[in-house]
Amino acid sequence: MVAPLDLLDLDTLLNDEERDIRAVVRRVADDKVRPHVAGWYEDGKVPVRELALEFGKLGLLGMHLTGYGCAGASAVSYGLACLELEAADSGVRSLVSVQGSLAMYAIWKYGSEEQKQRWLPGMAAGELIGCFGLTEPDHGSDPANMSTRARRDGADWVLDGGKMWITNAPLADVAVIWARGEEGVFGFAVPTDTPGFSAREIKNKMSLRASSTGEITLDGVRLPESARLPEARGLKAPLSCLTEARFGIIWGSMGAARDCLRVAIDYATTREQFGRPIGGFQLTQAKLADMSLELQKGYLLALHLGRLRDSAGALRPEQVSVGKLNNVREAIAIARTCRTILGGNGISGEYPVMRHANNLESVLTYEGTSEIHQLVIGQKLTGLNAFA
Ligand SMILES: Cc1cc2nc3c(=O)[nH]c(=O)nc-3n(C[C@H](O)[C@H](O)[C@H](O)COP(=O)(O)OP(=O)(O)OC[C@H]3O[C@@H](n4cnc5c(N)ncnc54)[C@H](O)[C@@H]3O)c2cc1C
Repeated sequence: MVAPLDLLDLDTLLNDEERDIRAVVRRVADDKVRPHVAGWYEDGKVPVRELALEFGKLGLLGMHLTGYGCAGASAVSYGLACLELEAADSGVRSLVSVQGSLAMYAIWKYGSEEQKQRWLPGMAAGELIGCFGLTEPDHGSDPANMSTRARRDGADWVLDGGKMWITNAPLADVAVIWARGEEGVFGFAVPTDTPGFSAREIKNKMSLRASSTGEITLDGVRLPESARLPEARGLKAPLSCLTEARFGIIWGSMGAARDCLRVAIDYATTREQFGRPIGGFQLTQAKLADMSLELQKGYLLALHLGRLRDSAGALRPEQVSVGKLNNVREAIAIARTCRTILGGNGISGEYPVMRHANNLESVLTYEGTSEIHQLVIGQKLTGLNAFA
């Protein structure tokens, strides 16, 4: 947290190493992202490769993984890095999440030794970009019904279908693609220069504009057996990758919320109406007080889940759903309330608040919508499946 937002002295819950990692990531976000991000957002273009190299140098890509050039950091340290990056912009945090927790994690967890050697060191260094293709135009919350097909042709596999809303797809070197074969769902590490693979940039986004998002077409993409992730069996493999990435969002969303509240407090104490700072009005103070409560509760929840994961080795899906549902929902509420405090200036790109609020609309939807996380929690509470 940042004083004066840390009313509960939550900083005392971190150790020196965690505080050091946080300081390094905050510095890179301040130096390399904040001065430029409003422009990237306005232009809808972000220098993904340069950022990836910068983040790779600091060990932020796949930082919670071990071996193959990865930093092997704790879950809490990884979470703090996500928080600091998303305090600058959710799109920039998405780059790191998709690279490390989706694409690299899929290869690290389910890939062959040869695949790990081929892709992971370059991805950890930020020299190679990865993407993760699960969502399709007609199958988002319900990936079990995916249409993309993997069929055997002699010793090869042939992929046909399409993937939608895929972060980093337009510039990726390797795409982790999930496709249905005769014996269930398979994963493939697809070099993006394979004939039949194409990715177009999705334009006109009103959210996450400092992030590259693409639609992938797979038209008879022929791959050797060595491209299949051998340890991935069934839909639980891509779902486990989503659980990984959701963990970073639990932290990251609190970064966006913190940045909004920081700006709103600053604005409220300097902007005067009716002859006094708007922060002196009780209605404004009530908003600020309530938001600081939710920010600190969300941070505590993230930290609890991080400590749990560091001690138990993994989190259960419903625990991750509690964190994602609560923290993104509260972050977007905080961003919107901060927007009101800034009045007309709240809609200006001169301030980061509306950008954060718009970004959080994507964060609310990807990695499982709020409704899907409510269903996960509801099923755990009742034993009843309300998905279909
Ligand atoms: C900017 C961005 C980046 C993304 N990056 C990636 C990526 O890198 N890789 C990837 O694979 N995907 C990615 N996604 C896709 C994202 O995960 C999906 O958009 C998300 O899973 C929702 O799917 P959908 O958009 O098809 O919505 P739908 O599934 O059609 O849902 C529409 C609405 O219906 C509700 N709904 C659906 N089913 C139920 C139900 N059973 N009960 C109640 N309500 C229900 C949903 O909650 C939602 O409110 C990204 C999305 C965005 C916006």
